[in-house]
Amino acid sequence: MNNFEYARALSVDGAIQLSTSESRFLAGGIDLVGEMKEYIISPKRVIDLKTIPDLDRIDTSSGTWKLGANVTIAEIAKNPQIIATLPGLAEAASEVGSPQIRNVATLGGNLAQHSRCWYYRHRDLRCLKRGGSTCYAREGENKYHSLFSGNPCISPAVSNLAVILAALDARVNVRRGDTEQTLTIRELYSDAWNNPLAHNSLQQGDLIVHVEIPTQKNRSTYLQVSEKSEFDWALVSCAAAGRNTGGQWADITVFLGAVAPIPYRVDSPLLEGGELSKDAIESIAGSIASKATPLAHNGYKVPIAQALVRRALARIVT
Ligand SMILES: Cc1cc2nc3c(=O)[nH]c(=O)nc-3n(C[C@H](O)[C@H](O)[C@H](O)COP(=O)(O)OP(=O)(O)OC[C@H]3O[C@@H](n4cnc5c(N)ncnc54)[C@H](O)[C@@H]3O)c2cc1C
Ligand code: SF4
Repeated sequence: MNNFEYARALSVDGAIQLSTSESRFLAGGIDLVGEMKEYIISPKRVIDLKTIPDLDRIDTSSGTWKLGANVTIAEIAKNPQIIATLPGLAEAASEVGSPQIRNVATLGGNLAQHSRCWYYRHRDLRCLKRGGSTCYAREGENKYHSLFSGNPCISPAVSNLAVILAALDARVNVRRGDTEQTLTIRELYSDAWNNPLAHNSLQQGDLIVHVEIPTQKNRSTYLQVSEKSEFDWALVSCAAAGRNTGGQWADITVFLGAVAPIPYRVDSPLLEGGELSKDAIESIAGSIASKATPLAHNGYKVPIAQALVRRALARIVT
C-alpha cells in the first residue's frame, strides 16, 4: 500500500481536528486496511479512533441505551443485558464474520464499511462506484447483488448491525465538523439508494460517535442465510422487532439485509398493530416477490428473503 501518516486521536474533537479531505478514520481496520492494500483508497493520513477514551462504553442506565462507536462486535454479542433485552442485536453481532473478526471490528466500522462487490474490490477495475462509467455486475456476475436499488449500482449494504438497528429504531450520533447530527439508520444509508458513488450518507470527515437504541421493543430477532457458517457475509438477512403488550402487537418493523444498497424495509399495513396471524405473516412474506427486480443470477434471494421474513415474524410473535 502507499505510505501514509498515522495519527492517534485522543478525543472526538481531536479526531475532527486531525481530519482532512484526504484522511480516513481507522477503527478495527478490518475493512479500511483491506481497501488500502488493494489501492482502492489511498489516504494520506489515517486517524486511529481506538485511542479515544469512552468510545468503547455500553451505557444501559436509561431506557435508551448508548453504545460507543468503538464497542467491538464481540462485546455486543456477549453482553448479558443485550442478550436479555435486545436479543436480535446480539444474534446479528454473533453472525458477523468469525470470532477473530468480531474481536477486532467495531460498531462504527461495521456501519460505515464499504461495498463488498467483487468488481468494486478488484484493484484493476474502475466501476461506477469508483468513479468509472460502468456497473460490471448488472450484466456480469451478480449472484450476491441487490434485488432492489434506486440507482444503477446494485451493490447491497451488508452490515448485519445496520439491519437489526434499523428494526430497533436506533439513531446514530454523528459529529460533522462542530455540529452533532442524529440520524436514523434509514438516513445513515439513504444516499446509497440514489447515488452509485455512495456507500452511505456519511460525508468526508463525519465521525460516528455512538448509537442510541430505544429498549421499548421487547421482542427482536435476526436471521441470516449464508453459504458458509463462519467467515462469510449473509446472502440475505432479516431482522424483526416489535412491542408486545398483553398479546397485542405494536411498532413491528421488518428489515432485510444484503438485498438493497440500504437496509430494506418490508412495508405492509398488516404490520401496523393488533394481532399477527399466520395468514398475515404469509401475506407479508409473499408481497416481497412483486417488488423485487432480480437479475440473471440473484433470483434465488427472493424465496430466501420470504422464508426469513416468515421465520423472523413467527419467532417474535411466539
Ligand atoms: C471475512 C469477512 C467476513 C465478514 N463478514 C461479515 C458479516 O457477516 N457481517 C457484517 O456485518 N460484516 C462482515 N464483515 C465486515 C466486517 O464486519 C467489517 O469490515 C468491520 O465491522 C469493520 O469494522 P472495523 O472496526 O474493522 O472498521 P474499519 O475497517 O476500521 O473501518 C471501516 C470503515 O468505516 C470507517 N469508520 C470506522 N469507524 C468509524 C467511525 N466511528 N465513524 C465514521 N467512520 C468510521 C473507516 O474510515 C472505514 O471506511 C466481514 C469481514 C470479513 C473480512
Ligand atoms: S454493483 Fe456497484 S460496486 Fe458493483 S460493479 Fe456495479 S457499480 Fe460497481
